[in-house]
Amino acid sequence: MREILLLKLGEIVLKGLNRGMFEQRLVKNLYWRLREVGEFEIYCLQSTIYVEPKSEDVDMDAAVDAVSRVFGIVSICRAAECEKDMDIILQTAKEFLYDRLEAASTFKVDAKRADKKFPLKSPQIMIEIGSALHDAHPHLKVDVEKPELRVKIEVRDHKAYVHANPIPGAGGMPVGINGKAALLLSGGIDSPVAGYMIAKRGVSLHGIHFFSYPYTSERAKKKVLELAEKLTKYNGRLRVSMVPFTQIQEAIRDHCREDMFTLIMRRFMMRISERVARMNDCRALITGESLGQVASQTMEAMGVTGAVCTLPVLRPVVGMDKEEIVVIARKIDTFETSIQPYEDCCTVFTPKHPKTKPRLYDVEAEEKKLPVDELVEEAIAAIEVITLD
Ligand code: ATP
Ligand code: MG
Repeated sequence: MREILLLKLGEIVLKGLNRGMFEQRLVKNLYWRLREVGEFEIYCLQSTIYVEPKSEDVDMDAAVDAVSRVFGIVSICRAAECEKDMDIILQTAKEFLYDRLEAASTFKVDAKRADKKFPLKSPQIMIEIGSALHDAHPHLKVDVEKPELRVKIEVRDHKAYVHANPIPGAGGMPVGINGKAALLLSGGIDSPVAGYMIAKRGVSLHGIHFFSYPYTSERAKKKVLELAEKLTKYNGRLRVSMVPFTQIQEAIRDHCREDMFTLIMRRFMMRISERVARMNDCRALITGESLGQVASQTMEAMGVTGAVCTLPVLRPVVGMDKEEIVVIARKIDTFETSIQPYEDCCTVFTPKHPKTKPRLYDVEAEEKKLPVDELVEEAIAAIEVITLD
């Protein structure tokens, strides 16, 4: 008896998309994400993806763990594969589900016969397997509405499969199917969540981080890379452009009005990010901004900072409360890293009374005091790219 995984895809999502492309991409992503767990054969048949270990010593718990973070999958069935023979199917069900049948108090058997040449029809398979399992575990009650254990027998073209109670998948669409976007990644709670949410919509990410050495430390940089590493569990490979920002911040501090410091700084971030995005084939920028969270995240401030770029700026957490963002941060395991107390360049030289309702005209006038293009070019020339996977 071999244990394999049967993965079910998001059906509704498939309607408007090219199904073949969706499936191919998902298979490719799965190969990549399982490469460290072991060797697998992965293929798609009749809207189900088969993940079959090539050897017996593969850790299937680790495989399930990795697969549960791959977008595009609605549910994961840990299934036992067997020959298409009723005695063998029954024996497989008895062995493979023994502990779970013992632990449950109610159950039900469903059967699906994809191979129409199989001599028994689905209802007959259900009745035969159901009553035999009942005989073997007499404490069980049948509950057709809400069984604790929903046993499923699938008779497909090549083999039969036995599984019960699928595990929820990560949902969403396969990463890469909807292009790539650039994630402005700080060390905070919000931006990793924003990246996760857009990746879930089938978008691969390119990270951009601004650091201001020596105002921000080497440790703060490491923290950001640790967050990026955690995102790779969902997003796959992630490249992060590390942008030195000290010179720009010092120039703003030395020449511009204090109450506009943050706004002008953020406009520089957006300009540089747009350039990095275009160099890396990205079609949008992503930030972790949330409406009204801080002075630079009012509608007026977002208008002023967004005015320097032409790519769309995606702000998936814009309407969420901090508590809602934290729930996701915990789920994707970035929260504990995000709350480590290392400074971000946004907290260097922050004004005491930042403008909350800036006017674009005033900010542009203030910015004219700086050699904007030159500063942008210098920062871009000094970018270091780090690859995480
Ligand atoms: P986060 O929790 O993600 O740090 P925040 O609440 O601290 O967000 P801000 O510091 O104002 O908010 O930043 C808003 C957004 O700007 C961040 O979510 C991120 O997308 C971007 N950003 C801020 N600092 C940096 C940085 N050093 N490098 C890259 N992007 C940044
Ligand atoms: Mg921040």
